[in-house]
Amino acid sequence: MRHCGIHGAVGHGLTHVMDDRMRQNEIDNLRVRLVSPPGMIIGGTSVDAVSEAILDVFSPIDGSLLTKLPDASEADVAHAVQAARIAFETGAWAKLAPNARKKILLDWAQLIDDHALELAVLGVRDNGTEISMAIKAEPMSAANTIRYYAEAIDKIYGEVAPTDASTLAMILKEPIGVVGAIVPWNFPLMISAWKIAPALAMGNSVVLKPSEIASLSVLRLVELAHEAGLPDGVLNVVTGQGAIVGQALARSMDVDSLVFTGSGRVGRLLLKHAAQTNLKRVYLELGGKSPHVVFDDTADLEAAAQAVVAGIFRNSGQVCIAGSRLLVQDSIHDAFVEKIVAITQAMRVGDPLNLETQIGAMSSEAHLNRVLQSLKPVKSIVAGGDRILTETGGYYMRPAIVTNMGPKDQLVQDEVFGPVLTVTRFTSEENAVDLANATELGLSAGVWTSNLSRAHRMISALRAGVVHVNTYGGADNTVPLGGYKQSGNGQDKSLHALDKYINKKTAWIKL
Ligand code: NAD
Repeated sequence: MRHCGIHGAVGHGLTHVMDDRMRQNEIDNLRVRLVSPPGMIIGGTSVDAVSEAILDVFSPIDGSLLTKLPDASEADVAHAVQAARIAFETGAWAKLAPNARKKILLDWAQLIDDHALELAVLGVRDNGTEISMAIKAEPMSAANTIRYYAEAIDKIYGEVAPTDASTLAMILKEPIGVVGAIVPWNFPLMISAWKIAPALAMGNSVVLKPSEIASLSVLRLVELAHEAGLPDGVLNVVTGQGAIVGQALARSMDVDSLVFTGSGRVGRLLLKHAAQTNLKRVYLELGGKSPHVVFDDTADLEAAAQAVVAGIFRNSGQVCIAGSRLLVQDSIHDAFVEKIVAITQAMRVGDPLNLETQIGAMSSEAHLNRVLQSLKPVKSIVAGGDRILTETGGYYMRPAIVTNMGPKDQLVQDEVFGPVLTVTRFTSEENAVDLANATELGLSAGVWTSNLSRAHRMISALRAGVVHVNTYGGADNTVPLGGYKQSGNGQDKSLHALDKYINKKTAWIKL
Protein backbone atom coordinates (compact mmCIF):
# COMPACT_ATOMS: atom_id res chain seq x y z
CA MET A 1 0.00 0.00 0.00
CA ARG A 2 1.26 3.52 -0.85
CA HIS A 3 2.34 5.35 2.33
CA CYS A 4 -0.30 7.90 3.30
CA GLY A 5 1.59 9.97 5.83
CA ILE A 6 4.48 12.30 6.43
CA HIS A 7 7.41 11.30 4.23
CA GLY A 8 9.99 9.27 6.16
CA ALA A 9 8.12 9.35 9.50
CA VAL A 10 8.58 6.21 11.56
CA GLY A 11 7.11 5.16 14.87
CA HIS A 12 6.59 8.48 16.61
CA GLY A 13 4.73 7.08 19.59
CA LEU A 14 3.92 8.67 22.90
CA THR A 15 4.13 5.60 25.05
CA HIS A 16 7.73 6.17 26.06
CA VAL A 17 8.43 8.95 28.51
CA MET A 18 9.17 12.13 26.59
CA ASP A 19 9.62 15.54 28.16
CA ASP A 20 8.12 18.56 26.43
CA ARG A 21 11.44 19.71 24.96
CA MET A 22 12.09 16.32 23.34
CA ARG A 23 8.51 16.19 22.13
CA GLN A 24 8.77 19.70 20.64
CA ASN A 25 11.94 18.60 18.81
CA GLU A 26 10.12 15.58 17.37
CA ILE A 27 7.21 17.81 16.33
CA ASP A 28 9.56 20.31 14.66
CA ASN A 29 11.20 17.46 12.83
CA LEU A 30 7.84 16.20 11.54
CA ARG A 31 6.48 19.63 10.62
CA VAL A 32 9.00 20.23 7.85
CA ARG A 33 8.73 16.83 6.19
CA LEU A 34 7.05 16.40 2.86
CA VAL A 35 3.51 15.04 2.99
CA SER A 36 3.25 12.49 0.20
CA PRO A 37 0.10 12.86 -1.93
CA PRO A 38 -1.95 9.96 -0.58
CA GLY A 39 -4.18 7.56 -2.46
CA MET A 40 -7.64 6.54 -1.30
CA ILE A 41 -7.92 3.09 0.25
CA ILE A 42 -10.32 0.78 -1.57
CA GLY A 43 -10.25 -3.01 -1.25
CA GLY A 44 -7.04 -2.77 0.77
CA THR A 45 -5.23 -0.96 -2.04
CA SER A 46 -4.11 2.63 -2.38
CA VAL A 47 -5.77 4.08 -5.47
CA ASP A 48 -6.19 7.40 -7.27
CA ALA A 49 -9.58 8.68 -8.37
CA VAL A 50 -10.79 6.93 -11.54
CA SER A 51 -10.84 10.33 -13.24
CA GLU A 52 -7.38 11.10 -11.79
CA ALA A 53 -8.80 14.40 -10.50
CA ILE A 54 -7.07 15.92 -7.49
CA LEU A 55 -7.79 18.55 -4.85
CA ASP A 56 -5.15 20.92 -3.50
CA VAL A 57 -4.76 20.77 0.28
CA PHE A 58 -3.62 23.98 1.95
CA SER A 59 -1.98 24.26 5.36
CA PRO A 60 -3.95 26.45 7.79
CA ILE A 61 -0.65 27.16 9.57
CA ASP A 62 0.82 29.27 6.75
CA GLY A 63 -1.51 28.94 3.78
CA SER A 64 1.03 26.94 1.76
CA LEU A 65 0.18 23.99 -0.48
CA LEU A 66 0.52 20.95 1.78
CA THR A 67 -0.23 18.13 -0.63
CA LYS A 68 -2.80 16.87 -3.13
CA LEU A 69 -5.73 14.56 -2.51
CA PRO A 70 -7.73 12.31 -4.85
CA ASP A 71 -10.96 14.10 -5.80
CA ALA A 72 -13.31 11.14 -6.09
CA SER A 73 -16.47 10.84 -8.16
CA GLU A 74 -19.56 8.63 -8.03
CA ALA A 75 -17.61 5.87 -9.80
CA ASP A 76 -15.06 5.73 -6.98
CA VAL A 77 -17.82 5.54 -4.38
CA ALA A 78 -19.46 2.69 -6.30
CA HIS A 79 -16.10 0.89 -6.41
CA ALA A 80 -15.62 1.30 -2.63
CA VAL A 81 -19.17 0.20 -1.81
CA GLN A 82 -18.69 -2.88 -4.00
CA ALA A 83 -15.40 -3.71 -2.23
CA ALA A 84 -17.15 -3.35 1.14
CA ARG A 85 -20.07 -5.54 -0.01
CA ILE A 86 -17.78 -8.29 -1.31
CA ALA A 87 -15.79 -8.26 1.93
CA PHE A 88 -19.02 -8.49 3.90
CA GLU A 89 -20.50 -11.34 1.86
CA THR A 90 -17.33 -13.45 1.97
CA GLY A 91 -17.47 -13.27 5.76
CA ALA A 92 -13.72 -12.66 6.00
CA TRP A 93 -14.48 -10.22 8.81
CA ALA A 94 -18.16 -10.63 9.71
CA LYS A 95 -17.80 -14.36 10.35
CA LEU A 96 -14.32 -14.28 11.85
CA ALA A 97 -14.30 -15.58 15.45
CA PRO A 98 -15.00 -12.73 17.87
CA ASN A 99 -11.68 -13.09 19.66
CA ALA A 100 -9.82 -12.97 16.32
CA ARG A 101 -11.63 -9.72 15.39
CA LYS A 102 -10.83 -8.39 18.82
CA LYS A 103 -7.11 -9.14 18.44
CA ILE A 104 -6.88 -7.28 15.13
CA LEU A 105 -8.60 -4.21 16.56
CA LEU A 106 -6.37 -4.27 19.66
CA ASP A 107 -3.27 -4.55 17.44
CA TRP A 108 -4.57 -1.60 15.44
CA ALA A 109 -4.97 0.49 18.60
CA GLN A 110 -1.39 -0.36 19.56
CA LEU A 111 -0.12 0.74 16.13
CA ILE A 112 -1.98 4.04 16.58
CA ASP A 113 -0.26 4.53 19.92
CA ASP A 114 3.08 3.72 18.32
CA HIS A 115 2.48 6.35 15.61
CA ALA A 116 0.63 8.85 17.79
CA LEU A 117 2.87 11.87 17.31
CA GLU A 118 3.12 11.32 13.56
CA LEU A 119 -0.70 11.08 13.31
CA ALA A 120 -1.22 14.13 15.52
CA VAL A 121 1.22 16.32 13.57
CA LEU A 122 -0.20 15.19 10.24
CA GLY A 123 -3.71 16.09 11.42
CA VAL A 124 -2.61 19.50 12.75
CA ARG A 125 -0.85 20.36 9.49
CA ASP A 126 -4.18 19.62 7.82
CA ASN A 127 -6.71 21.27 10.18
CA GLY A 128 -4.81 23.65 12.49
CA THR A 129 -5.89 22.32 15.92
CA GLU A 130 -3.34 23.18 18.63
CA ILE A 131 -1.05 20.17 19.05
CA SER A 132 -1.43 20.03 22.85
CA MET A 133 -5.10 19.26 22.32
CA ALA A 134 -4.69 17.18 19.15
CA ILE A 135 -2.35 14.65 20.77
CA LYS A 136 -4.96 13.72 23.37
CA ALA A 137 -8.14 14.30 21.41
CA GLU A 138 -6.98 12.62 18.21
CA PRO A 139 -4.66 9.55 18.19
CA MET A 140 -4.95 8.83 21.91
CA SER A 141 -8.72 9.14 21.87
CA ALA A 142 -9.07 7.10 18.66
CA ALA A 143 -6.88 4.30 20.04
CA ASN A 144 -8.91 4.24 23.27
CA THR A 145 -12.20 4.09 21.38
CA ILE A 146 -10.98 1.23 19.20
CA ARG A 147 -9.76 -0.60 22.31
CA TYR A 148 -13.09 -0.05 24.08
CA TYR A 149 -15.14 -1.59 21.26
CA ALA A 150 -12.56 -4.34 20.65
CA GLU A 151 -12.98 -5.37 24.29
CA ALA A 152 -16.75 -5.43 23.85
CA ILE A 153 -16.69 -7.87 20.93
CA ASP A 154 -16.58 -11.07 22.96
CA LYS A 155 -18.84 -9.77 25.73
CA ILE A 156 -21.99 -9.07 23.73
CA TYR A 157 -24.58 -11.85 24.00
CA GLY A 158 -27.83 -12.57 22.16
CA GLU A 159 -31.03 -13.01 24.16
CA VAL A 160 -33.57 -15.74 24.87
CA ALA A 161 -37.09 -14.32 25.14
CA PRO A 162 -39.49 -15.35 27.96
CA THR A 163 -41.94 -17.39 25.86
CA ASP A 164 -44.02 -20.43 26.87
CA ALA A 165 -42.27 -23.80 27.24
CA SER A 166 -43.22 -25.08 23.80
CA THR A 167 -41.29 -22.33 22.04
CA LEU A 168 -37.70 -21.18 22.00
CA ALA A 169 -37.46 -17.54 20.87
CA MET A 170 -34.04 -15.98 20.45
CA ILE A 171 -33.03 -12.43 19.61
CA LEU A 172 -29.90 -12.60 17.46
CA LYS A 173 -27.64 -9.62 16.84
CA GLU A 174 -26.37 -9.52 13.29
CA PRO A 175 -24.22 -6.97 11.49
CA ILE A 176 -26.17 -4.69 9.15
CA GLY A 177 -23.82 -5.03 6.17
CA VAL A 178 -22.23 -1.99 4.54
CA VAL A 179 -22.04 1.15 6.67
CA GLY A 180 -21.30 4.56 5.11
CA ALA A 181 -19.62 6.99 7.52
CA ILE A 182 -19.25 10.71 6.78
CA VAL A 183 -17.15 12.75 9.21
CA PRO A 184 -16.15 16.42 9.66
CA TRP A 185 -12.76 18.12 9.93
CA ASN A 186 -12.57 19.27 13.53
CA PHE A 187 -11.49 15.95 15.12
CA PRO A 188 -11.03 13.62 12.15
CA LEU A 189 -9.48 10.67 14.01
CA MET A 190 -11.62 10.81 17.14
CA ILE A 191 -14.90 11.08 15.26
CA SER A 192 -13.93 8.47 12.64
CA ALA A 193 -13.14 6.07 15.50
CA TRP A 194 -16.54 6.77 17.10
CA LYS A 195 -18.14 5.41 13.91
CA ILE A 196 -15.81 2.75 12.56
CA ALA A 197 -14.82 1.06 15.83
CA PRO A 198 -18.38 -0.01 16.83
CA ALA A 199 -19.28 -0.73 13.18
CA LEU A 200 -16.29 -3.06 12.76
CA ALA A 201 -16.73 -4.56 16.23
CA MET A 202 -20.19 -5.75 15.17
CA GLY A 203 -18.82 -7.29 11.95
CA ASN A 204 -19.85 -4.68 9.37
CA SER A 205 -17.85 -3.38 6.42
CA VAL A 206 -17.37 0.38 6.16
CA VAL A 207 -16.89 3.08 3.53
CA LEU A 208 -15.53 6.16 5.26
CA LYS A 209 -15.67 9.66 3.80
CA PRO A 210 -13.48 12.16 5.66
CA SER A 211 -13.79 15.91 5.17
CA GLU A 212 -11.82 17.30 2.24
CA ILE A 213 -10.32 19.71 4.82
CA ALA A 214 -8.91 16.93 7.02
CA SER A 215 -8.39 13.60 5.24
CA LEU A 216 -4.69 12.99 5.70
CA SER A 217 -4.55 11.55 9.22
CA VAL A 218 -7.67 9.47 8.51
CA LEU A 219 -5.96 7.82 5.55
CA ARG A 220 -2.93 7.03 7.71
CA LEU A 221 -5.25 5.63 10.40
CA VAL A 222 -6.83 3.24 7.92
CA GLU A 223 -3.44 2.26 6.51
CA LEU A 224 -2.48 1.20 10.04
CA ALA A 225 -5.67 -0.89 10.30
CA HIS A 226 -4.46 -2.93 7.32
CA GLU A 227 -1.01 -3.27 8.89
CA ALA A 228 -2.78 -4.72 11.93
CA GLY A 229 -4.39 -7.40 9.74
CA LEU A 230 -7.84 -6.03 8.89
CA PRO A 231 -8.93 -7.95 5.76
CA ASP A 232 -9.04 -6.06 2.46
CA GLY A 233 -12.31 -4.31 1.63
CA VAL A 234 -13.59 -4.21 5.22
CA LEU A 235 -12.62 -0.57 5.75
CA ASN A 236 -12.40 1.71 2.70
CA VAL A 237 -11.77 5.46 2.49
CA VAL A 238 -12.99 7.69 -0.33
CA THR A 239 -11.71 11.27 -0.36
CA GLY A 240 -13.16 14.29 -2.12
CA GLN A 241 -15.95 16.79 -2.00
CA GLY A 242 -18.94 16.34 0.23
CA ALA A 243 -21.52 17.28 -2.38
CA ILE A 244 -20.17 14.54 -4.67
CA VAL A 245 -18.71 11.74 -2.54
CA GLY A 246 -20.99 12.19 0.48
CA GLN A 247 -24.05 12.46 -1.71
CA ALA A 248 -23.10 9.34 -3.71
CA LEU A 249 -22.73 7.37 -0.47
CA ALA A 250 -26.07 8.66 0.79
CA ARG A 251 -27.79 7.73 -2.48
CA SER A 252 -26.12 4.31 -2.89
CA MET A 253 -28.63 1.47 -3.09
CA ASP A 254 -26.06 -0.85 -1.54
CA VAL A 255 -25.24 1.12 1.64
CA ASP A 256 -27.37 -0.25 4.47
CA SER A 257 -26.76 2.40 7.09
CA LEU A 258 -25.32 5.90 7.09
CA VAL A 259 -23.69 7.49 10.13
CA PHE A 260 -22.87 11.17 9.96
CA THR A 261 -21.28 13.91 12.03
CA GLY A 262 -21.46 17.41 10.65
CA SER A 263 -23.81 20.30 10.04
CA GLY A 264 -27.60 20.25 10.21
CA ARG A 265 -27.73 21.51 6.62
CA VAL A 266 -26.01 18.37 5.33
CA GLY A 267 -27.84 16.12 7.81
CA ARG A 268 -31.17 17.18 6.29
CA LEU A 269 -29.89 16.38 2.79
CA LEU A 270 -28.83 12.91 3.90
CA LEU A 271 -32.32 12.14 5.24
CA LYS A 272 -33.75 13.23 1.90
CA HIS A 273 -31.30 11.07 -0.08
CA ALA A 274 -32.13 8.03 2.05
CA ALA A 275 -35.86 8.64 1.58
CA GLN A 276 -35.44 8.89 -2.19
CA THR A 277 -33.32 5.74 -2.50
CA ASN A 278 -33.23 2.60 -0.33
CA LEU A 279 -34.48 3.99 3.01
CA LYS A 280 -31.12 3.24 4.58
CA ARG A 281 -30.92 4.06 8.25
CA VAL A 282 -29.47 7.54 8.85
CA TYR A 283 -27.92 8.51 12.20
CA LEU A 284 -27.04 12.17 12.60
CA GLU A 285 -24.69 13.88 15.08
CA LEU A 286 -25.13 17.57 14.37
CA GLY A 287 -24.20 20.96 15.70
CA GLY A 288 -24.62 22.67 19.04
CA LYS A 289 -25.13 26.11 20.55
CA SER A 290 -24.47 25.03 24.07
CA PRO A 291 -25.35 27.19 27.10
CA HIS A 292 -22.90 27.52 29.96
CA VAL A 293 -24.89 28.73 32.98
CA VAL A 294 -23.12 30.34 35.96
CA PHE A 295 -25.16 30.97 39.14
CA ASP A 296 -24.11 33.46 41.79
CA ASP A 297 -23.96 30.69 44.41
CA THR A 298 -20.94 29.08 42.66
CA ALA A 299 -18.23 28.49 45.29
CA ASP A 300 -15.27 28.67 42.91
CA LEU A 301 -15.91 31.40 40.36
CA GLU A 302 -12.26 31.31 39.29
CA ALA A 303 -12.61 27.66 38.26
CA ALA A 304 -15.90 28.50 36.52
CA ALA A 305 -14.23 31.31 34.56
CA GLN A 306 -11.35 29.06 33.48
CA ALA A 307 -13.82 26.36 32.37
CA VAL A 308 -16.04 28.81 30.48
CA VAL A 309 -13.03 30.12 28.52
CA ALA A 310 -11.53 26.68 27.79
CA GLY A 311 -15.01 25.35 27.02
CA ILE A 312 -15.43 27.71 24.09
CA PHE A 313 -11.98 28.62 22.85
CA ARG A 314 -9.97 25.37 22.62
CA ASN A 315 -9.57 24.27 19.00
CA SER A 316 -10.70 27.82 18.09
CA GLY A 317 -14.27 27.02 19.13
CA GLN A 318 -14.49 24.40 16.38
CA VAL A 319 -15.90 21.86 18.80
CA CYS A 320 -19.44 20.48 18.58
CA ILE A 321 -20.02 20.78 22.33
CA ALA A 322 -18.32 24.21 22.64
CA GLY A 323 -20.06 26.22 25.36
CA SER A 324 -20.72 29.15 23.03
CA ARG A 325 -23.48 30.89 25.05
CA LEU A 326 -22.51 32.12 28.51
CA LEU A 327 -25.53 32.81 30.74
CA VAL A 328 -24.45 34.58 33.90
CA GLN A 329 -26.50 35.70 36.87
CA ASP A 330 -27.07 39.45 37.15
CA SER A 331 -25.44 39.90 40.55
CA ILE A 332 -22.05 38.55 39.41
CA HIS A 333 -22.25 39.52 35.73
CA ASP A 334 -19.77 42.40 35.60
CA ALA A 335 -17.10 40.81 37.80
CA PHE A 336 -17.40 37.49 35.97
CA VAL A 337 -17.12 39.09 32.53
CA GLU A 338 -14.03 40.95 33.72
CA LYS A 339 -12.48 37.62 34.77
CA ILE A 340 -13.16 35.82 31.50
CA VAL A 341 -11.92 38.76 29.43
CA ALA A 342 -8.64 38.73 31.36
CA ILE A 343 -8.19 34.96 30.96
CA THR A 344 -9.07 35.12 27.24
CA GLN A 345 -6.72 37.98 26.48
CA ALA A 346 -3.86 36.05 28.08
CA MET A 347 -4.38 33.01 25.85
CA ARG A 348 -1.59 32.24 23.41
CA VAL A 349 -2.94 32.18 19.84
CA GLY A 350 -0.60 31.06 17.08
CA ASP A 351 1.47 28.26 15.60
CA PRO A 352 -0.57 25.13 16.32
CA LEU A 353 2.57 22.97 16.27
CA ASN A 354 4.04 24.80 19.26
CA LEU A 355 3.22 22.84 22.43
CA GLU A 356 2.64 26.10 24.33
CA THR A 357 -0.01 27.41 21.94
CA GLN A 358 -3.51 27.38 23.43
CA ILE A 359 -5.48 28.37 20.33
CA GLY A 360 -4.24 27.24 16.92
CA ALA A 361 -5.36 28.11 13.41
CA MET A 362 -8.87 28.05 11.96
CA SER A 363 -9.41 25.08 9.65
CA SER A 364 -9.64 27.06 6.41
CA GLU A 365 -9.59 30.63 5.17
CA ALA A 366 -13.21 30.39 4.02
CA HIS A 367 -14.31 29.30 7.49
CA LEU A 368 -12.25 32.05 9.17
CA ASN A 369 -13.92 34.62 6.92
CA ARG A 370 -17.38 33.25 7.77
CA VAL A 371 -16.68 33.57 11.49
CA LEU A 372 -15.33 37.14 11.11
CA GLN A 373 -18.38 38.00 9.02
CA SER A 374 -20.73 36.79 11.77
CA LEU A 375 -19.22 39.44 14.08
CA LYS A 376 -19.66 42.33 11.65
CA PRO A 377 -23.15 43.45 12.81
CA VAL A 378 -22.23 43.25 16.49
CA LYS A 379 -21.42 46.36 18.56
CA SER A 380 -20.51 45.02 22.00
CA ILE A 381 -17.31 43.04 21.44
CA VAL A 382 -15.30 43.26 24.67
CA ALA A 383 -12.40 41.04 23.58
CA GLY A 384 -10.78 39.92 20.32
CA GLY A 385 -12.72 39.18 17.15
CA ASP A 386 -10.03 40.26 14.68
CA ARG A 387 -7.81 38.39 12.24
CA ILE A 388 -4.17 38.29 13.35
CA LEU A 389 -0.78 36.93 12.25
CA THR A 390 -1.60 37.61 8.60
CA GLU A 391 2.17 37.85 7.91
CA THR A 392 2.37 34.06 8.45
CA GLY A 393 -0.10 33.41 5.63
CA GLY A 394 -2.10 31.29 8.13
CA TYR A 395 -5.71 31.54 9.33
CA TYR A 396 -5.69 33.01 12.85
CA MET A 397 -8.09 35.13 14.86
CA ARG A 398 -8.25 36.41 18.41
CA PRO A 399 -11.02 34.78 20.45
CA ALA A 400 -14.06 37.05 20.74
CA ILE A 401 -16.35 37.80 23.68
CA VAL A 402 -19.59 39.62 22.90
CA THR A 403 -21.75 40.99 25.75
CA ASN A 404 -25.33 42.35 26.03
CA MET A 405 -26.71 39.60 23.87
CA GLY A 406 -30.43 38.88 23.82
CA PRO A 407 -31.90 35.40 23.27
CA LYS A 408 -33.11 36.21 19.73
CA ASP A 409 -29.88 37.73 18.43
CA GLN A 410 -28.54 35.86 15.43
CA LEU A 411 -25.16 35.31 17.07
CA VAL A 412 -26.97 33.61 19.98
CA GLN A 413 -29.11 31.43 17.72
CA ASP A 414 -26.69 30.34 14.97
CA GLU A 415 -23.87 27.88 15.46
CA VAL A 416 -20.78 29.93 14.56
CA PHE A 417 -18.36 27.02 15.10
CA GLY A 418 -15.55 29.44 15.87
CA PRO A 419 -13.95 31.28 18.82
CA VAL A 420 -16.94 33.45 19.66
CA LEU A 421 -18.60 33.56 23.10
CA THR A 422 -21.86 35.43 23.60
CA VAL A 423 -22.79 36.66 27.09
CA THR A 424 -26.39 37.05 28.31
CA ARG A 425 -27.58 37.99 31.82
CA PHE A 426 -30.24 36.11 33.74
CA THR A 427 -32.14 36.95 36.89
CA SER A 428 -33.47 33.67 38.32
CA GLU A 429 -33.19 29.90 37.89
CA GLU A 430 -36.40 29.86 35.86
CA ASN A 431 -35.09 32.63 33.63
CA ALA A 432 -31.79 30.73 33.16
CA VAL A 433 -33.64 27.57 32.07
CA ASP A 434 -35.79 29.52 29.60
CA LEU A 435 -32.74 31.20 28.05
CA ALA A 436 -30.67 28.01 27.99
CA ASN A 437 -33.39 26.10 26.15
CA ALA A 438 -34.22 28.91 23.73
CA THR A 439 -32.45 27.54 20.63
CA GLU A 440 -33.27 24.74 18.20
CA LEU A 441 -30.12 22.87 19.17
CA GLY A 442 -29.52 20.73 22.25
CA LEU A 443 -26.16 19.00 22.25
CA SER A 444 -24.50 20.00 25.52
CA ALA A 445 -24.88 22.33 28.51
CA GLY A 446 -22.89 23.40 31.56
CA VAL A 447 -24.08 24.51 35.00
CA TRP A 448 -22.09 26.08 37.83
CA THR A 449 -23.75 26.09 41.26
CA SER A 450 -22.99 24.96 44.82
CA ASN A 451 -26.61 24.06 45.44
CA LEU A 452 -27.04 20.31 44.93
CA SER A 453 -30.80 20.46 44.56
CA ARG A 454 -30.50 23.22 41.98
CA ALA A 455 -27.91 21.15 40.07
CA HIS A 456 -30.36 18.25 39.85
CA ARG A 457 -33.23 20.53 38.84
CA MET A 458 -31.06 21.99 36.09
CA ILE A 459 -29.96 18.55 34.79
CA SER A 460 -33.62 17.65 34.46
CA ALA A 461 -34.74 20.97 32.94
CA LEU A 462 -32.01 21.44 30.32
CA ARG A 463 -32.84 19.92 26.94
CA ALA A 464 -29.38 18.70 25.97
CA GLY A 465 -27.73 15.34 25.41
CA VAL A 466 -25.06 15.99 28.02
CA VAL A 467 -25.19 18.30 31.04
CA HIS A 468 -21.90 19.10 32.80
CA VAL A 469 -22.06 20.31 36.41
CA ASN A 470 -19.20 22.31 37.95
CA THR A 471 -16.93 21.27 35.10
CA TYR A 472 -17.17 21.42 31.31
CA GLY A 473 -16.38 19.04 28.46
CA GLY A 474 -15.47 15.89 30.40
CA ALA A 475 -16.35 12.60 28.69
CA ASP A 476 -15.06 9.16 27.88
CA ASN A 477 -16.04 6.08 25.92
CA THR A 478 -18.35 4.78 28.64
CA VAL A 479 -20.98 7.50 28.13
CA PRO A 480 -23.00 8.41 25.04
CA LEU A 481 -22.70 11.70 23.14
CA GLY A 482 -25.64 12.83 21.08
CA GLY A 483 -28.10 15.63 20.71
CA TYR A 484 -31.60 16.58 21.73
CA LYS A 485 -33.81 18.61 19.38
CA GLN A 486 -32.10 19.49 16.07
CA SER A 487 -28.66 18.42 17.30
CA GLY A 488 -29.26 14.95 15.95
CA ASN A 489 -30.99 11.63 16.24
CA GLY A 490 -28.24 9.21 17.19
CA GLN A 491 -25.58 8.79 19.83
CA ASP A 492 -21.92 7.91 19.49
CA LYS A 493 -19.84 6.14 22.15
CA SER A 494 -20.72 3.71 24.94
CA LEU A 495 -22.28 0.26 24.49
CA HIS A 496 -25.55 1.98 23.45
CA ALA A 497 -23.91 3.02 20.16
CA LEU A 498 -23.57 -0.64 19.15
CA ASP A 499 -27.30 -0.75 18.45
CA LYS A 500 -26.73 1.47 15.41
CA TYR A 501 -24.60 -1.22 13.81
CA ILE A 502 -26.74 -4.34 14.27
CA ASN A 503 -29.95 -5.88 13.07
CA LYS A 504 -31.92 -7.68 15.75
CA LYS A 505 -33.31 -10.89 14.27
CA THR A 506 -35.97 -12.97 15.98
CA ALA A 507 -35.66 -16.76 15.71
CA TRP A 508 -38.98 -18.42 16.69
CA ILE A 509 -38.62 -22.18 17.15
CA LYS A 510 -41.45 -24.65 17.90
CA LEU A 511 -40.07 -27.30 20.24
P1 NAD B 1 -20.28 19.66 7.08
O1 NAD B 1 -21.67 19.21 7.31
O2 NAD B 1 -20.04 20.75 6.13
O3 NAD B 1 -19.41 18.44 6.54
C1 NAD B 1 -19.37 17.21 7.24
C2 NAD B 1 -19.04 16.11 6.24
O4 NAD B 1 -20.10 16.05 5.28
C3 NAD B 1 -17.75 16.33 5.46
O5 NAD B 1 -17.10 15.10 5.24
C4 NAD B 1 -18.26 16.91 4.14
O6 NAD B 1 -17.40 16.67 3.06
C5 NAD B 1 -19.57 16.14 3.98
N1 NAD B 1 -20.54 16.85 3.12
C6 NAD B 1 -20.59 18.18 2.82
N2 NAD B 1 -21.60 18.44 1.98
C7 NAD B 1 -22.23 17.24 1.75
C8 NAD B 1 -23.35 16.86 0.96
N3 NAD B 1 -24.03 17.74 0.23
N4 NAD B 1 -23.72 15.55 0.98
C9 NAD B 1 -23.05 14.65 1.72
N5 NAD B 1 -21.96 14.95 2.46
C10 NAD B 1 -21.55 16.24 2.49
O7 NAD B 1 -19.66 19.96 8.51
P2 NAD B 1 -18.18 20.43 8.87
O8 NAD B 1 -18.06 21.86 8.49
O9 NAD B 1 -17.19 19.46 8.33
O10 NAD B 1 -18.20 20.25 10.46
C11 NAD B 1 -18.76 21.17 11.30
C12 NAD B 1 -20.11 20.72 11.77
O11 NAD B 1 -20.02 19.43 12.39
C13 NAD B 1 -20.66 21.62 12.84
O12 NAD B 1 -22.03 21.83 12.63
C14 NAD B 1 -20.42 20.82 14.11
O13 NAD B 1 -21.23 21.16 15.20
C15 NAD B 1 -20.67 19.44 13.65
N6 NAD B 1 -20.07 18.46 14.57
C16 NAD B 1 -20.90 17.70 15.36
C17 NAD B 1 -20.36 16.78 16.26
C18 NAD B 1 -21.25 15.90 17.14
O14 NAD B 1 -20.76 14.94 17.73
N7 NAD B 1 -22.53 16.17 17.25
C19 NAD B 1 -18.98 16.64 16.35
C20 NAD B 1 -18.17 17.45 15.54
C21 NAD B 1 -18.73 18.34 14.64
